[in-house]
Amino acid sequence: MAMAYIEPAPIKDKENPLESMMSRFDAAARLLGISDEMYDILKVPARQVIVGLPVTMDNGAIKVFEGYRVIHSNILGPAKGGIRLDPGVNLDEVRALAAWMTWKCAVVDIPYGGAKGGIACNPREMSAGEIERLIRQYTVAMLDVIGPDRDIPAPDMGTGPREMAWIVDEYSKAKGMTVNNVVTGKPLVLGGSLGRTEATGRGVTVAALSAMDKLRMNPYRATAAVQGFGNVGSFAAELLHERGVTVVAISDISGGYYNASGIDITAAVTYRNGNKGTLEGFSGAEKISNEELLSLAVDVLVPAAKEDVITDDNAASIQARMIVEGANGPTSASADEIINSKGILVVPDILANAGGVTVSYFEWVQNRIGYKWTLDRINRRADRVMKDAFDRVFETSQRYQVPLRLAAYIVAIDKVSSTYKFRGGY
Ligand code: NAD
Repeated sequence: MAMAYIEPAPIKDKENPLESMMSRFDAAARLLGISDEMYDILKVPARQVIVGLPVTMDNGAIKVFEGYRVIHSNILGPAKGGIRLDPGVNLDEVRALAAWMTWKCAVVDIPYGGAKGGIACNPREMSAGEIERLIRQYTVAMLDVIGPDRDIPAPDMGTGPREMAWIVDEYSKAKGMTVNNVVTGKPLVLGGSLGRTEATGRGVTVAALSAMDKLRMNPYRATAAVQGFGNVGSFAAELLHERGVTVVAISDISGGYYNASGIDITAAVTYRNGNKGTLEGFSGAEKISNEELLSLAVDVLVPAAKEDVITDDNAASIQARMIVEGANGPTSASADEIINSKGILVVPDILANAGGVTVSYFEWVQNRIGYKWTLDRINRRADRVMKDAFDRVFETSQRYQVPLRLAAYIVAIDKVSSTYKFRGGY
Protein backbone atom coordinates (compact mmCIF):
# COMPACT_ATOMS: atom_id res chain seq x y z
CA MET A 1 0.00 0.00 0.00
CA ALA A 2 1.41 3.37 -0.96
CA MET A 3 1.30 5.72 1.98
CA ALA A 4 2.14 9.29 1.26
CA TYR A 5 3.71 11.54 3.78
CA ILE A 6 1.70 14.68 4.40
CA GLU A 7 2.91 17.60 6.34
CA PRO A 8 1.20 17.99 9.69
CA ALA A 9 -1.84 20.18 9.95
CA PRO A 10 -4.13 20.86 12.88
CA ILE A 11 -7.77 19.91 13.04
CA LYS A 12 -10.32 22.04 11.37
CA ASP A 13 -12.49 23.71 13.94
CA LYS A 14 -15.52 24.24 11.77
CA GLU A 15 -16.71 27.23 13.76
CA ASN A 16 -13.61 29.37 13.46
CA PRO A 17 -10.25 27.71 12.87
CA LEU A 18 -8.27 30.85 13.44
CA GLU A 19 -9.85 31.53 16.81
CA SER A 20 -9.45 27.98 18.06
CA MET A 21 -5.74 28.06 17.25
CA MET A 22 -5.38 31.49 18.78
CA SER A 23 -6.90 30.48 22.12
CA ARG A 24 -3.89 28.25 22.85
CA PHE A 25 -1.57 30.87 21.50
CA ASP A 26 -3.21 33.44 23.79
CA ALA A 27 -2.78 31.32 26.92
CA ALA A 28 0.92 30.78 26.20
CA ALA A 29 1.48 34.45 25.29
CA ARG A 30 -0.09 35.50 28.61
CA LEU A 31 2.14 33.16 30.58
CA LEU A 32 5.20 34.44 28.75
CA GLY A 33 4.10 38.00 29.44
CA ILE A 34 4.75 39.26 25.90
CA SER A 35 3.83 42.85 25.09
CA ASP A 36 0.72 43.89 23.16
CA GLU A 37 2.91 45.04 20.26
CA MET A 38 4.65 41.68 20.06
CA TYR A 39 1.30 39.95 20.31
CA ASP A 40 0.10 41.80 17.22
CA ILE A 41 3.31 41.08 15.33
CA LEU A 42 2.97 37.36 15.99
CA LYS A 43 -0.73 37.29 15.25
CA VAL A 44 -0.93 38.98 11.86
CA PRO A 45 0.26 36.97 8.84
CA ALA A 46 3.20 38.48 6.95
CA ARG A 47 1.62 37.89 3.56
CA GLN A 48 -1.74 36.66 2.26
CA VAL A 49 -2.19 35.95 -1.41
CA ILE A 50 -5.41 35.04 -3.23
CA VAL A 51 -5.26 34.13 -6.91
CA GLY A 52 -7.80 33.25 -9.59
CA LEU A 53 -6.80 30.15 -11.52
CA PRO A 54 -8.47 29.62 -14.91
CA VAL A 55 -8.10 26.00 -16.03
CA THR A 56 -9.29 24.31 -19.21
CA MET A 57 -11.25 21.24 -18.15
CA ASP A 58 -11.31 18.00 -20.15
CA ASN A 59 -14.60 18.99 -21.80
CA GLY A 60 -13.01 22.16 -23.19
CA ALA A 61 -14.75 24.56 -20.80
CA ILE A 62 -12.71 26.98 -18.72
CA LYS A 63 -13.29 26.87 -14.99
CA VAL A 64 -11.83 29.40 -12.56
CA PHE A 65 -10.60 28.15 -9.19
CA GLU A 66 -9.51 30.23 -6.21
CA GLY A 67 -6.03 29.57 -4.78
CA TYR A 68 -4.46 30.80 -1.55
CA ARG A 69 -1.04 31.06 -0.01
CA VAL A 70 -0.50 32.57 3.41
CA ILE A 71 2.92 33.19 4.85
CA HIS A 72 2.30 33.61 8.54
CA SER A 73 5.90 34.29 9.51
CA ASN A 74 9.30 34.38 7.87
CA ILE A 75 11.16 35.75 10.86
CA LEU A 76 13.05 32.50 11.48
CA GLY A 77 13.71 31.65 7.85
CA PRO A 78 11.84 30.71 4.67
CA ALA A 79 8.23 29.77 5.32
CA LYS A 80 7.16 26.12 5.16
CA GLY A 81 3.77 24.51 4.76
CA GLY A 82 1.66 22.19 2.64
CA ILE A 83 -0.80 22.83 -0.16
CA ARG A 84 -4.24 21.29 0.19
CA LEU A 85 -6.85 20.61 -2.44
CA ASP A 86 -10.26 20.50 -0.87
CA PRO A 87 -13.67 22.01 -1.64
CA GLY A 88 -13.78 23.60 1.83
CA VAL A 89 -10.46 25.46 1.61
CA ASN A 90 -10.79 29.16 2.49
CA LEU A 91 -8.55 32.00 3.58
CA ASP A 92 -9.46 31.73 7.26
CA GLU A 93 -8.50 28.07 7.38
CA VAL A 94 -5.27 28.61 5.45
CA ARG A 95 -4.34 31.44 7.81
CA ALA A 96 -4.84 29.22 10.87
CA LEU A 97 -2.85 26.38 9.33
CA ALA A 98 -0.03 28.77 8.37
CA ALA A 99 0.29 30.12 11.92
CA TRP A 100 0.24 26.58 13.26
CA MET A 101 3.21 25.72 11.01
CA THR A 102 5.15 28.64 12.50
CA TRP A 103 4.73 27.21 16.01
CA LYS A 104 5.37 23.65 14.89
CA CYS A 105 8.69 24.46 13.17
CA ALA A 106 9.73 26.60 16.13
CA VAL A 107 9.04 23.80 18.65
CA VAL A 108 11.44 21.45 16.88
CA ASP A 109 13.88 24.30 16.27
CA ILE A 110 14.16 24.06 12.50
CA PRO A 111 14.98 27.36 10.76
CA TYR A 112 11.63 27.88 9.07
CA GLY A 113 8.65 30.16 9.37
CA GLY A 114 5.12 28.95 8.75
CA ALA A 115 2.97 28.99 5.63
CA LYS A 116 0.07 27.14 4.09
CA GLY A 117 -1.59 27.04 0.72
CA GLY A 118 -4.77 25.69 -0.75
CA ILE A 119 -7.01 25.56 -3.76
CA ALA A 120 -10.78 25.30 -3.39
CA CYS A 121 -11.56 22.33 -5.65
CA ASN A 122 -12.66 18.73 -5.44
CA PRO A 123 -9.74 16.58 -6.66
CA ARG A 124 -11.90 13.43 -6.46
CA GLU A 125 -14.05 14.78 -9.26
CA MET A 126 -11.13 15.90 -11.46
CA SER A 127 -9.01 13.96 -13.92
CA ALA A 128 -5.23 13.72 -13.46
CA GLY A 129 -4.84 16.11 -16.41
CA GLU A 130 -7.16 18.69 -14.86
CA ILE A 131 -5.33 18.50 -11.53
CA GLU A 132 -1.99 18.83 -13.34
CA ARG A 133 -3.10 21.98 -15.20
CA LEU A 134 -4.49 23.43 -11.97
CA ILE A 135 -1.26 22.78 -10.06
CA ARG A 136 0.87 24.24 -12.86
CA GLN A 137 -1.39 27.31 -13.02
CA TYR A 138 -1.13 27.72 -9.24
CA THR A 139 2.68 27.47 -9.44
CA VAL A 140 2.85 30.18 -12.09
CA ALA A 141 0.49 32.41 -10.08
CA MET A 142 2.72 31.94 -7.01
CA LEU A 143 6.08 32.41 -8.76
CA ASP A 144 6.91 35.48 -6.71
CA VAL A 145 5.65 33.95 -3.46
CA ILE A 146 7.23 30.49 -3.30
CA GLY A 147 10.93 29.70 -3.68
CA PRO A 148 13.64 27.70 -1.90
CA ASP A 149 14.71 30.71 0.14
CA ARG A 150 11.26 32.26 0.51
CA ASP A 151 8.50 29.73 0.97
CA ILE A 152 8.65 25.97 0.48
CA PRO A 153 5.38 24.08 -0.14
CA ALA A 154 4.82 20.39 0.59
CA PRO A 155 1.99 17.86 0.29
CA ASP A 156 -1.14 18.19 2.39
CA MET A 157 -4.72 16.87 1.97
CA GLY A 158 -5.29 16.02 -1.69
CA THR A 159 -1.67 16.45 -2.82
CA GLY A 160 1.35 14.14 -2.83
CA PRO A 161 4.68 13.49 -4.57
CA ARG A 162 3.00 13.67 -8.00
CA GLU A 163 1.81 17.24 -7.46
CA MET A 164 5.18 18.24 -5.96
CA ALA A 165 6.91 17.00 -9.14
CA TRP A 166 4.65 19.23 -11.26
CA ILE A 167 5.49 22.23 -9.10
CA VAL A 168 9.24 21.52 -9.43
CA ASP A 169 8.84 21.27 -13.20
CA GLU A 170 6.83 24.45 -13.64
CA TYR A 171 8.97 26.49 -11.25
CA SER A 172 12.17 25.18 -12.88
CA LYS A 173 10.93 26.15 -16.35
CA ALA A 174 10.28 29.69 -15.15
CA LYS A 175 13.77 29.94 -13.63
CA GLY A 176 15.55 28.30 -16.56
CA MET A 177 17.18 25.66 -14.38
CA THR A 178 16.19 22.73 -12.20
CA VAL A 179 15.20 23.97 -8.76
CA ASN A 180 14.13 20.89 -6.84
CA ASN A 181 14.24 22.44 -3.38
CA VAL A 182 11.27 24.69 -4.10
CA VAL A 183 9.12 21.95 -2.50
CA THR A 184 9.58 18.95 -0.21
CA GLY A 185 7.76 15.65 -0.35
CA LYS A 186 9.06 14.96 -3.86
CA PRO A 187 9.47 11.54 -5.43
CA LEU A 188 12.86 10.06 -4.44
CA VAL A 189 14.32 10.32 -7.96
CA LEU A 190 13.53 14.03 -8.02
CA GLY A 191 15.41 14.73 -4.80
CA GLY A 192 13.01 13.38 -2.20
CA SER A 193 14.53 12.16 1.07
CA LEU A 194 14.96 8.67 2.37
CA GLY A 195 13.13 8.05 5.64
CA ARG A 196 10.40 10.55 5.00
CA THR A 197 7.49 8.10 4.80
CA GLU A 198 8.13 6.65 8.25
CA ALA A 199 9.39 9.92 9.77
CA THR A 200 6.22 10.90 11.65
CA GLY A 201 5.71 7.47 13.25
CA ARG A 202 9.37 7.38 14.12
CA GLY A 203 9.17 10.78 15.80
CA VAL A 204 6.11 9.64 17.76
CA THR A 205 8.19 6.72 19.04
CA VAL A 206 11.09 8.97 20.06
CA ALA A 207 8.64 11.27 21.87
CA ALA A 208 7.07 8.29 23.65
CA LEU A 209 10.43 6.87 24.73
CA SER A 210 11.59 10.29 25.95
CA ALA A 211 8.42 10.65 28.02
CA MET A 212 8.80 7.11 29.39
CA ASP A 213 12.31 7.98 30.44
CA LYS A 214 11.02 10.99 32.41
CA LEU A 215 8.42 8.80 34.13
CA ARG A 216 11.11 6.18 34.79
CA MET A 217 9.19 3.60 32.80
CA ASN A 218 11.14 0.68 31.40
CA PRO A 219 10.11 0.19 27.73
CA TYR A 220 10.70 -3.54 28.07
CA ARG A 221 8.05 -3.70 30.78
CA ALA A 222 5.67 -1.20 29.20
CA THR A 223 2.52 -1.78 27.21
CA ALA A 224 1.02 0.37 24.48
CA ALA A 225 -2.21 0.72 22.50
CA VAL A 226 -2.13 2.44 19.11
CA GLN A 227 -5.27 3.78 17.46
CA GLY A 228 -5.02 4.05 13.66
CA PHE A 229 -2.88 1.78 11.50
CA GLY A 230 -2.04 4.08 8.60
CA ASN A 231 1.15 6.00 7.96
CA VAL A 232 1.64 7.32 11.49
CA GLY A 233 0.08 4.52 13.57
CA SER A 234 1.62 1.51 11.85
CA PHE A 235 5.17 2.89 11.88
CA ALA A 236 4.75 4.02 15.51
CA ALA A 237 3.50 0.54 16.50
CA GLU A 238 6.32 -1.16 14.61
CA LEU A 239 9.04 1.01 16.13
CA LEU A 240 7.63 0.87 19.68
CA HIS A 241 7.61 -2.90 19.34
CA GLU A 242 11.20 -2.80 18.06
CA ARG A 243 12.21 -0.83 21.14
CA GLY A 244 10.83 -3.47 23.48
CA VAL A 245 7.35 -2.12 24.18
CA THR A 246 4.54 -4.68 24.16
CA VAL A 247 1.90 -3.33 21.80
CA VAL A 248 -1.24 -4.99 23.14
CA ALA A 249 -3.74 -3.28 20.86
CA ILE A 250 -3.93 -1.71 17.41
CA SER A 251 -6.90 -0.50 15.42
CA ASP A 252 -8.15 1.06 12.24
CA ILE A 253 -11.48 2.05 10.78
CA SER A 254 -12.53 -1.66 10.92
CA GLY A 255 -12.17 -1.77 14.74
CA GLY A 256 -9.64 -2.70 17.43
CA TYR A 257 -7.47 -5.80 17.86
CA TYR A 258 -6.28 -6.84 21.31
CA ASN A 259 -3.76 -9.42 22.47
CA ALA A 260 -2.57 -9.24 26.09
CA SER A 261 0.75 -10.89 25.24
CA GLY A 262 1.46 -8.49 22.39
CA ILE A 263 0.37 -8.14 18.78
CA ASP A 264 2.78 -9.37 16.12
CA ILE A 265 3.10 -5.98 14.39
CA THR A 266 5.06 -7.27 11.41
CA ALA A 267 2.33 -9.83 10.77
CA ALA A 268 -0.32 -7.10 11.10
CA VAL A 269 1.46 -4.86 8.57
CA THR A 270 1.82 -7.76 6.12
CA TYR A 271 -1.84 -8.65 6.62
CA ARG A 272 -2.99 -5.05 6.03
CA ASN A 273 -0.83 -4.69 2.92
CA GLY A 274 -2.41 -7.78 1.38
CA ASN A 275 -5.91 -6.84 2.51
CA LYS A 276 -6.68 -3.58 0.67
CA GLY A 277 -5.08 -1.54 3.45
CA THR A 278 -7.35 -2.68 6.28
CA LEU A 279 -6.96 -4.92 9.34
CA GLU A 280 -10.48 -6.34 8.86
CA GLY A 281 -10.30 -10.07 9.64
CA PHE A 282 -6.82 -9.94 11.26
CA SER A 283 -6.61 -13.11 13.34
CA GLY A 284 -3.68 -12.55 15.69
CA ALA A 285 -5.89 -10.90 18.28
CA GLU A 286 -9.27 -10.56 19.92
CA LYS A 287 -11.62 -8.03 18.32
CA ILE A 288 -12.46 -4.98 20.42
CA SER A 289 -13.95 -1.60 19.54
CA ASN A 290 -11.98 1.60 18.99
CA GLU A 291 -13.71 2.98 22.07
CA GLU A 292 -12.51 0.01 24.17
CA LEU A 293 -8.97 0.47 22.87
CA LEU A 294 -8.89 4.01 24.22
CA SER A 295 -9.79 2.93 27.74
CA LEU A 296 -7.34 0.02 28.04
CA ALA A 297 -5.08 0.05 31.11
CA VAL A 298 -1.84 0.49 29.17
CA ASP A 299 1.22 2.59 29.88
CA VAL A 300 1.22 4.42 26.54
CA LEU A 301 -1.80 5.34 24.44
CA VAL A 302 -1.06 6.59 20.93
CA PRO A 303 -4.08 8.09 19.15
CA ALA A 304 -2.86 8.15 15.54
CA ALA A 305 -6.06 8.06 13.50
CA LYS A 306 -8.02 11.26 13.53
CA GLU A 307 -9.02 14.34 15.52
CA ASP A 308 -11.37 14.51 18.52
CA VAL A 309 -11.31 10.88 19.65
CA ILE A 310 -10.67 11.72 23.31
CA THR A 311 -13.50 14.02 24.39
CA ASP A 312 -15.23 14.90 27.65
CA ASP A 313 -17.51 11.89 27.02
CA ASN A 314 -14.73 9.32 27.38
CA ALA A 315 -11.81 11.17 29.02
CA ALA A 316 -12.80 9.94 32.49
CA SER A 317 -12.43 6.33 31.35
CA ILE A 318 -8.87 6.70 30.03
CA GLN A 319 -6.51 4.55 32.09
CA ALA A 320 -3.25 5.07 30.18
CA ARG A 321 -0.36 6.67 32.04
CA MET A 322 0.57 8.78 29.05
CA ILE A 323 -0.95 9.86 25.76
CA VAL A 324 1.34 10.53 22.81
CA GLU A 325 -0.60 12.37 20.13
CA GLY A 326 0.33 10.93 16.74
CA ALA A 327 -2.78 12.42 15.12
CA ASN A 328 -3.51 16.11 14.98
CA GLY A 329 -5.95 17.27 17.63
CA PRO A 330 -6.99 13.82 18.96
CA THR A 331 -7.83 15.35 22.36
CA SER A 332 -10.56 17.96 22.50
CA ALA A 333 -9.94 21.10 24.55
CA SER A 334 -12.61 20.15 27.10
CA ALA A 335 -11.08 16.69 27.56
CA ASP A 336 -7.69 18.28 28.22
CA GLU A 337 -8.72 19.37 31.69
CA ILE A 338 -10.09 15.96 32.68
CA ILE A 339 -6.96 14.23 31.39
CA ASN A 340 -4.70 16.68 33.21
CA SER A 341 -6.60 16.31 36.46
CA LYS A 342 -6.09 12.54 36.27
CA GLY A 343 -2.35 13.16 36.12
CA ILE A 344 -1.95 11.61 32.66
CA LEU A 345 1.06 12.98 30.80
CA VAL A 346 0.10 14.20 27.32
CA VAL A 347 2.78 14.68 24.67
CA PRO A 348 0.94 17.13 22.39
CA ASP A 349 0.55 16.75 18.62
CA ILE A 350 2.56 19.89 17.85
CA LEU A 351 5.59 18.14 19.37
CA ALA A 352 4.86 14.40 19.04
CA ASN A 353 4.12 14.34 15.31
CA ALA A 354 6.78 16.85 14.20
CA GLY A 355 9.08 14.11 12.90
CA GLY A 356 7.61 14.49 9.42
CA VAL A 357 8.32 18.19 9.03
CA THR A 358 11.79 17.57 10.44
CA VAL A 359 12.66 15.14 7.65
CA SER A 360 11.07 17.56 5.13
CA TYR A 361 13.62 20.06 6.36
CA PHE A 362 16.36 17.45 5.84
CA GLU A 363 15.12 16.97 2.27
CA TRP A 364 15.60 20.68 1.62
CA VAL A 365 19.04 20.65 3.28
CA GLN A 366 20.17 17.71 1.13
CA ASN A 367 18.90 19.45 -2.03
CA ARG A 368 20.80 22.59 -1.08
CA ILE A 369 24.09 20.81 -0.55
CA GLY A 370 23.49 18.59 -3.56
CA TYR A 371 24.16 15.43 -1.61
CA LYS A 372 22.06 12.51 -0.41
CA TRP A 373 22.38 11.36 3.16
CA THR A 374 22.07 7.70 4.11
CA LEU A 375 18.93 6.52 5.85
CA ASP A 376 20.96 5.89 8.95
CA ARG A 377 22.19 9.48 9.08
CA ILE A 378 18.70 10.86 8.50
CA ASN A 379 17.21 8.72 11.25
CA ARG A 380 19.92 9.59 13.74
CA ARG A 381 19.58 13.31 13.09
CA ALA A 382 15.78 13.25 13.14
CA ASP A 383 15.82 11.33 16.44
CA ARG A 384 18.16 13.93 17.90
CA VAL A 385 15.90 16.81 16.80
CA MET A 386 12.85 15.12 18.36
CA LYS A 387 14.67 14.24 21.59
CA ASP A 388 16.02 17.78 22.00
CA ALA A 389 12.58 19.26 21.30
CA PHE A 390 11.01 16.95 23.86
CA ASP A 391 13.59 17.89 26.50
CA ARG A 392 13.09 21.60 25.83
CA VAL A 393 9.33 21.35 26.14
CA PHE A 394 9.56 19.16 29.23
CA GLU A 395 11.95 21.55 30.94
CA THR A 396 9.65 24.49 30.07
CA SER A 397 6.64 22.65 31.48
CA GLN A 398 8.47 22.25 34.77
CA ARG A 399 9.66 25.84 34.85
CA TYR A 400 6.18 27.25 34.21
CA GLN A 401 4.35 24.44 36.00
CA VAL A 402 2.10 23.85 33.00
CA PRO A 403 1.16 20.78 30.91
CA LEU A 404 3.39 19.89 27.94
CA ARG A 405 0.84 21.26 25.46
CA LEU A 406 1.03 24.77 26.82
CA ALA A 407 4.78 24.43 27.29
CA ALA A 408 5.19 23.60 23.59
CA TYR A 409 3.44 26.84 22.64
CA ILE A 410 5.55 28.76 25.13
CA VAL A 411 8.75 27.38 23.59
CA ALA A 412 7.56 28.31 20.08
CA ILE A 413 6.28 31.80 20.85
CA ASP A 414 9.35 32.61 22.91
CA LYS A 415 11.63 31.60 20.04
CA VAL A 416 9.81 33.63 17.38
CA SER A 417 9.35 36.71 19.58
CA SER A 418 12.95 36.80 20.81
CA THR A 419 14.23 36.40 17.23
CA TYR A 420 12.04 39.32 16.23
CA LYS A 421 13.45 41.42 19.06
CA PHE A 422 17.01 40.80 17.88
CA ARG A 423 16.17 41.53 14.26
CA GLY A 424 14.10 44.59 15.09
CA GLY A 425 11.60 46.36 12.85
CA TYR A 426 10.58 49.79 11.69
P1 NAD B 1 -3.67 7.47 7.20
O1 NAD B 1 -4.80 7.78 6.32
O2 NAD B 1 -2.43 6.86 6.63
O3 NAD B 1 -4.16 6.49 8.38
C1 NAD B 1 -5.28 6.75 9.17
C2 NAD B 1 -5.60 5.47 9.95
O4 NAD B 1 -6.64 5.74 10.87
C3 NAD B 1 -6.10 4.32 9.07
O5 NAD B 1 -5.61 3.10 9.60
C4 NAD B 1 -7.61 4.40 9.25
O6 NAD B 1 -8.26 3.15 9.02
C5 NAD B 1 -7.69 4.81 10.68
N1 NAD B 1 -8.96 5.43 11.04
C6 NAD B 1 -9.68 6.33 10.32
N2 NAD B 1 -10.80 6.65 10.98
C7 NAD B 1 -10.77 5.95 12.13
C8 NAD B 1 -11.64 5.84 13.22
N3 NAD B 1 -12.79 6.52 13.26
N4 NAD B 1 -11.28 5.04 14.25
C9 NAD B 1 -10.13 4.35 14.21
N5 NAD B 1 -9.27 4.39 13.20
C10 NAD B 1 -9.59 5.18 12.18
O7 NAD B 1 -3.33 8.84 7.95
P2 NAD B 1 -1.98 9.25 8.66
O8 NAD B 1 -1.12 9.95 7.67
O9 NAD B 1 -1.44 8.10 9.43
O10 NAD B 1 -2.51 10.37 9.65
C11 NAD B 1 -3.13 10.06 10.88
C12 NAD B 1 -3.20 11.31 11.75
O11 NAD B 1 -1.89 11.83 11.95
C13 NAD B 1 -4.00 12.47 11.15
O12 NAD B 1 -4.57 13.18 12.20
C14 NAD B 1 -2.91 13.32 10.49
O13 NAD B 1 -3.31 14.67 10.37
C15 NAD B 1 -1.82 13.18 11.50
N6 NAD B 1 -0.45 13.45 10.98
C16 NAD B 1 0.05 12.77 9.94
C17 NAD B 1 1.34 13.04 9.50
C18 NAD B 1 1.97 12.25 8.40
O14 NAD B 1 3.17 12.43 8.17
N7 NAD B 1 1.26 11.35 7.74
C19 NAD B 1 2.11 14.03 10.13
C20 NAD B 1 1.56 14.73 11.21
C21 NAD B 1 0.27 14.41 11.63
